[in-house]
Amino acid sequence: MSDTKVYKNFINGKWVESSSGKTFENRNPANTDEVVGVFQKSNADDVNQALTAAAEAYKKWRLVPAPKRGELLYRVASKMWARKEEISRDMTREMGKVIAETRGDTQEAIDMTYYMAGEGRRLFGQTTPSEMPNKFNMTIRQPLGVCSFITPWNFPIAIPAWKTMPALICGNTVVIKPATDTPLSVAHMMEVFEEEGIPAGVVNMVTGSGGTVGTALINDDRVRVVSFTGSTEIGRKVSEGCAPNFKHCCLEMGGKNVQIVMDDANLELAVEGALWGAFGTTGQRCTATSRLIIHEKVHDKMVEMLKAQAEKIKVGNGLDETVKMGPCINQGQLDTVLSYIDIGQKGGARLVTGGERLTGGDYDKGFFVKPTIFTGVTQKMRIWREEIFGPVLSVGTFKTFDQAIEMANDTAYGLSAAIYTQDINKAYTAMRDVYTGIFYVNAPTIGAETHLPFGGTKETGNGHREAATAALDVFSEWKSVYVDFSGKIQRAQIDNQ
Ligand code: NAD
Repeated sequence: MSDTKVYKNFINGKWVESSSGKTFENRNPANTDEVVGVFQKSNADDVNQALTAAAEAYKKWRLVPAPKRGELLYRVASKMWARKEEISRDMTREMGKVIAETRGDTQEAIDMTYYMAGEGRRLFGQTTPSEMPNKFNMTIRQPLGVCSFITPWNFPIAIPAWKTMPALICGNTVVIKPATDTPLSVAHMMEVFEEEGIPAGVVNMVTGSGGTVGTALINDDRVRVVSFTGSTEIGRKVSEGCAPNFKHCCLEMGGKNVQIVMDDANLELAVEGALWGAFGTTGQRCTATSRLIIHEKVHDKMVEMLKAQAEKIKVGNGLDETVKMGPCINQGQLDTVLSYIDIGQKGGARLVTGGERLTGGDYDKGFFVKPTIFTGVTQKMRIWREEIFGPVLSVGTFKTFDQAIEMANDTAYGLSAAIYTQDINKAYTAMRDVYTGIFYVNAPTIGAETHLPFGGTKETGNGHREAATAALDVFSEWKSVYVDFSGKIQRAQIDNQ
């Protein structure tokens, strides 16, 4: 414990302790003996300081030309690239996903930073004719001010970067509260900003609980945008907190994503996709494949193939390059997964493989569970309907394409869906009729790229999208500008009849 590094909050360009005087430990979910770091257990006073710094910094940052803001982001992206391996290894230590995936997570943050750096020379508005002579019309994007971010643990640097980079390029300032399980990755992001000379107060990090730090970030009147990624349950609270004074509120929440497999599908590819979608990141992706529906003609064959492959997945510490699946994030999530396995069995689903915690040796120090597959899952069962957020795949079956579409849409969520088929007509029909924010053809439900909008329908989101230029719409507001150079009053809709 004495050798463990103590990380501070990053407020107004300085690393500072919480005025609470309290800290919390961040432990490795693959080996709970290892304390990854000690972090500030912050309070409302710390949030107040960070928001004061962000509000002050905004006065100047909004006036920095966007291409110049972009130049800083280019340097930040290069530095993240230079530190990619270190950031990724620390991410595996704090969060458990395998090193190949944490490298991907860091790469996603780098990609987003380069992308938004480029937007510094675009941020295009429109010029458009006026209905009047000698009048010029255009639209410009304007920043909003202070943005607060509340982020989850499953993409510890990618999601914070998805929010921070578009906010900054638009001219806003930022206070971020990372998930309590993964503050180190955001601390690394702050270090990179500091190393590249971001002006004091433009980005700030306050670590601590959702109830205390998160609530203070939502309620403060100086905040103009709250961007939240996490569970639908907490997202609803965030939305309610933002409503009284009309803060912009961007919510990215849960999923119950589906892969449809038609009888003409390339089954090997479909199996590979389902396993990667269901067990990548230990099933802890918002886009994870948690429902698999297979045409009855190929159901038994595909289940057999899935079982054989799932049992070969090596589970363990993600720093071992040969390991393919890491632990659950914490005891609470492990308990949730095990309770859903119980619910599945009691509800009448058939356990095909997995279904238990891994124990013995090093497994006893972490939150490991076997890749688990249920078949015979029907639409009424809880394991069909509720997000589990763990390595549990619920398999159902169908007779007709229309039935598959109906089953795919039978969920409260709407993040991601996939179809495996060789029939282009069915692929396009499913693309049109499955009501999600993301859709894949012959590819798993996971694997978003940063230059396409990211988000979901129904209880997954509230209409906004992250990533791509869509993110700019969260972090800027349109201003329509009319310039009349006629030298006289011209009344719209009246003088041009
Ligand atoms: P969570 O909702 O428990 O926590 C998310 C964040 O909210 C954390 O930083 C947490 O500290 C904070 N928080 C908790 N209570 C709060 C409160 N009362 N007020 C303000 N903030 C509070 O979610 P999680 O367990 O960290 O992440 C898993 C969930 O996130 C899953 O439901 C998953 O689907 C979702 N997720 C969605 C996306 C997406 O883009 N749609 C991406 C990743 C994760």
